[in-house]
Amino acid sequence: MKFNTKTIHGNQHPDKAYGAVMPPIYQTSTYIQEAPGVHKGYAYSRSKNPSREALENALASIENGVYGSAFGSGMAAIDAILKLLKPGDEVIATNDLYGGSYRLFTQQYETYGIVFHFVDMKEASHIESFINEKTALIWIETPTNPLLNIIDIAAVSHIAKTHCILLAVDNTFASPYLQQPLDLGADIVMHSITKYIGGHSDVVLGGLVVKDEALAKKLYFIQNSSGAICGPQDAFLALRGLKTLHVRMQRHCENAKTVAHFLLNHPKVDRVYWPGFENFPNHKVAKKQMKDFGGMVSFSLKNSTYEETIHVLQQLKLFTLAESLGGVESLVGHPASMTHASIPKAERDKLGIVDSLIRLSVGIEDIEDLIQDLSQALS
Ligand SMILES: *Cc1c(COP(=O)(O)O)cnc(C)c1O
Repeated sequence: MKFNTKTIHGNQHPDKAYGAVMPPIYQTSTYIQEAPGVHKGYAYSRSKNPSREALENALASIENGVYGSAFGSGMAAIDAILKLLKPGDEVIATNDLYGGSYRLFTQQYETYGIVFHFVDMKEASHIESFINEKTALIWIETPTNPLLNIIDIAAVSHIAKTHCILLAVDNTFASPYLQQPLDLGADIVMHSITKYIGGHSDVVLGGLVVKDEALAKKLYFIQNSSGAICGPQDAFLALRGLKTLHVRMQRHCENAKTVAHFLLNHPKVDRVYWPGFENFPNHKVAKKQMKDFGGMVSFSLKNSTYEETIHVLQQLKLFTLAESLGGVESLVGHPASMTHASIPKAERDKLGIVDSLIRLSVGIEDIEDLIQDLSQALS
């Protein structure tokens, strides 16, 4: 089955009770038992719920995995992965990581005795000098936020396998439409379903997919014992979103490509970050491991201060100033004051997250309207 069919049919079945084509919202915490322990496979909704299970199965299908699990948020899904570790274990993580992941790693798990190394992975071999007998997990995010750096998943996976280290990939920015990390050798793929998979900015939800049964059992144990599950209503909405992922992504990518080229040629724009440019670092890797270049575009303004940049943002009418990404509507963010505000300015400048950097989540509106909005704001 091809991807565009899987989003609609992959591991998805009509409801067993009445044949409903769309899986109903099973808003129940518990299930009748004919005798103690005798039931239809569902005993308590933290452990298993048909609405959540429908989403988990579909998720596994579109990531070419076997076992899916859905959590109350992307962060809860990441938290479950980290609970596979024990004190003393070491993690090698991408250096320009999603802010929430960085916070979870350094402010929670470091205090539990897990050691983190944050490494520039644009060159996969950089990882090698950080590996020792305690390394238990490699954590990568590609493309990264907000500079859209690309990491070669297959190359990192090769290193991870050589040393028998678990490899997890945060696939949120790409979505399974563009990139399937399990096929490239990753052990765990993680999503903030809140973003492209949900796609309508109406739920906060996370997911994991794996192929290995033993690993799936460990993650299920953590999910069930810690309890960071998603509710049935949110699972229903996420599955509804998932079914149109491929058509939305196609338009996100087309629109982002036009926006990136428009910005590249604009006299007020300094740098444009979009992995589709041939001279973009690791463009060849992006071309190899991604179907297209995604819906995110970041750019910096020429000779603009923090205040001038904010002023430009405030002129935008269609691009809504907001956190998050991946919904049908176009959003704009200012990393220096929003997502990356907790990083000191000197550190931000070193990473390339300058005060004049603007991040766009290009939506699926008519491209002429989007370009016109950017054009009037920049002038
Ligand atoms: C949003 C996001 C997360 C966290 O997901 P939530 O659903 O907000 O908890 C993790 N990684 C990336 C790349 C994200 O964009």
